[in-house]
Formats: sequence, C-alpha cells, structure tokens
Amino acid sequence: MAAEGTDAVFEDEVEPTLTISEYMDGIEAEELEVDLVLGGDDGDECTYGAGYLKRQAVFSCLTCVPDGVAGVCTACCLACHDGHEVVELWTKRNFRCDCGNSKFGGHLCKLNPEKDPVNPGNSYNQNFKGSYCTCSRPYPDPEAKEQVEMIQCCICEDWFHEDHIGLDSAEKIPCDEDGEPLFEDFICHKCSPVCSFLKLYPDSVLASSKQTSASPSQAVAADSNGMEGTEKNENGAPVDHQSVEKTSVKDNSTKDIAASESSNLGDNSAGNCKLGMDINTKSADSEKTMPFFMSKGWRETLCKCGTCTNFYAQRGIAHLTDKDDSIEEYEKMAKQKRKKKLEQQEGAEANFINSLNHVQKIEILSGINDMKNEFQSFLESRDPSKPVTPDEVQSIFKNLAKKKQRII
Ligand SMILES: [Zn+2]
Ligand SMILES: [Zn+2]
Ligand SMILES: [Zn+2]
Ligand SMILES: [Zn+2]
Ligand SMILES: [Zn+2]
Ligand SMILES: [Zn+2]
Repeated sequence: MAAEGTDAVFEDEVEPTLTISEYMDGIEAEELEVDLVLGGDDGDECTYGAGYLKRQAVFSCLTCVPDGVAGVCTACCLACHDGHEVVELWTKRNFRCDCGNSKFGGHLCKLNPEKDPVNPGNSYNQNFKGSYCTCSRPYPDPEAKEQVEMIQCCICEDWFHEDHIGLDSAEKIPCDEDGEPLFEDFICHKCSPVCSFLKLYPDSVLASSKQTSASPSQAVAADSNGMEGTEKNENGAPVDHQSVEKTSVKDNSTKDIAASESSNLGDNSAGNCKLGMDINTKSADSEKTMPFFMSKGWRETLCKCGTCTNFYAQRGIAHLTDKDDSIEEYEKMAKQKRKKKLEQQEGAEANFINSLNHVQKIEILSGINDMKNEFQSFLESRDPSKPVTPDEVQSIFKNLAKKKQRII
C-alpha cells in the first residue's frame, strides 16, 4: 500500500504540494506508525517460540490459506510470504504464529519450521479473510469513494465504520473539536451484551457519546448512583432508554448470557468486591444493544475480586483487567523500543565518525558541506512559497553527482 503511494507521487503528472520539511515529517510519521503497529519488533525472528504473545502485529496470507483461518508474524510475513496476497490485520491479542503449520498445505516456514500442527488458543475473526465491520467489506474498500477510518472493538477486535456501529442520529462518537477520540476503548454492539455488567459501575467509566445530553434528571440519578447504590441497579442502572429504543441493532447474544448465568459460581466474596454484590446476579438486558465508548483509565476501575475475576474468565474477557492488553500500553512499549533504536543508531553514527582517520573525516565533512551548499543555492534560487517537486530534489542529487565526478 505504502509502496504504491510512493510510486504514485513520482509518476503523477500533477505536482505534489509538499515542502521539504513536510516531506521529512511525513517520512518520520510513517516510520513511527509502522513501529507502533509492529510494537518495536524488528521482524527478524518468528515469534512462535515466544508462544501466545499478549499483542503483536498479525498478517493473513490468502495465497497460502485462502480460507483466512491462519495468521503469521511480521518476520514470517517478510521472509515466508513475500509476493503473496497478504492481509495486514494491525495487532491481535493472544496470538501465536501459524506460519507453515498444518493449515499451510506443505508451505514450510523458513524461519521456524518446527511448529505444532495447530495453535488451539488462536481465534480468527472475519478480518483474517480480509473483511471488516458489520458490512463485511475489505479495507481499503475498492468500491468506496473515500476510505474512512475504522474503530476497533477491544473485545472481538473487529474494525467498524463509524456509520455502522449502531449509533442513532442523536449520538456521535466522543471526539474533541479536532476529531481526536475522547475515549480509550470501544466495545461494539455485538460485544456489549457480554459487558452489560459495566452498567453496574458509575457512568464515569463511559465516555459520553451523546450529542445532546440526556434528560438532566437521568444524569443526576446516574451521578449519585455510586458504587454503594448497586441494589437498585437491577432496574435503575443508568441506561438511556430513549436511545436504546431508537436503535435498530438486534441483540443476538442474550443466549450466551443466559448460559453463563446458569453456571453461577458458588463462592461469593462480595465483601471485597468493588460492586458490593455478586456480578453474576446482573441479569441480561432485554433491551436492544448499544456500543460502549469507554473513558480513559476505565480498565483500572474494574473490580478484581475473585467473583468478578471468575466472571471475566468465563466470558472470555479476562484481558480487560490486564493493563498490558491495551493498545495504549502496546504503543507505549513500541515508542520506548523505537527511542532505544534511534539512540543506538545515533551512537553507531558517532562511533563510525570517531573510527575514521583524519583524511576520511575531512572527506565526509566536505561531502556534507557540498550537500549543504547545493541545498542552499537551490533554496536561494527558487520561490519559497512554491512547493518542492520530486524533479527538483532529483536535480539536486544529479548536480552533486556531477560535482563529485569533476573532483575525481
Ligand atoms: Zn512466524
Ligand atoms: Zn503465503
Ligand atoms: Zn514463516
Ligand atoms: Zn461497515
Ligand atoms: Zn466487538
Ligand atoms: Zn468484584
């Protein structure tokens, strides 16, 4: 995708409108974005040996596994599936590299061929087939007029178009004026029934998605409805019934909830429970389901008592109480690794310069000087209000090369 974009810039007849600093900033931003997705993994080694990683970049090769029921790590994507039809899945939690296992029909992994036939802990949503959202469209979508950004659900990890998440007209995604999201996590309408217990918590765990605030009486009731006031939550949970009624999304997950409720756990350690009640007694909402936008830091507020922890495990959402699971933590770790890498590079450059003898140093420095002079005279010779074109940049390097030849 990126390669196509770069080609297009240089082939295009129309002059791109970029200044040099914008161009450099763009490269820096692109590099950072790649590092954030890869989590600082340099893609040298297959991650299979490390087991199910809490989070990693995953790719699906439709050339090797057309059904989309397998995923490979970054290193395998590069080493074993070069030139194949690969779907980039961004990051997935709790995944182990499948490259070359029984799903690959004899296509062996070049990096780690010693793998079990399958990884039973992996799960594969429609993204592995290259489909996303309730509309099951590819991304980028060749039939869409423009590619809109999608939101990832922190439970099922599928991606959703903003128009397809089941918000009604009175609601919008919580964003600031610049369109930056004001929520930490998104829970899609298919997954929200599994998380209906979140209504037992104060409203502050939710980032508001209301364009016009709900009726004031409701808001006040919700605010005063602290952790202690849980008894009336069975019916008095801070639900916006107006918007619930308006939504057209169908709740198809009530069966799962009924099933897990029948397996109610015996040990009730409600004494240490933040909720002050057995989370299992929260009955399934019969109302239609709404997506949740979670406020910053909401994961830390979740109760970790024995009963609640068992409840999360039963529903397959134990990862919510793991701080390292969040994309935010993953990106923080990626940024740290990137910083280290850049520092090492700088160190290596300094070491390289120091290892040179005097004549070599002079040559390098005069090379840098030539470059500076060439840029300087280029910048002086042109109208600074006009953007720099790729042709102009190429001509600078041609001039430099000519100078080098004259010197030699
Ligand atoms: Zn691998
Ligand atoms: Zn492949
Ligand atoms: Zn491989
Ligand atoms: Zn969609
Ligand atoms: Zn979901
Ligand atoms: Zn609890």
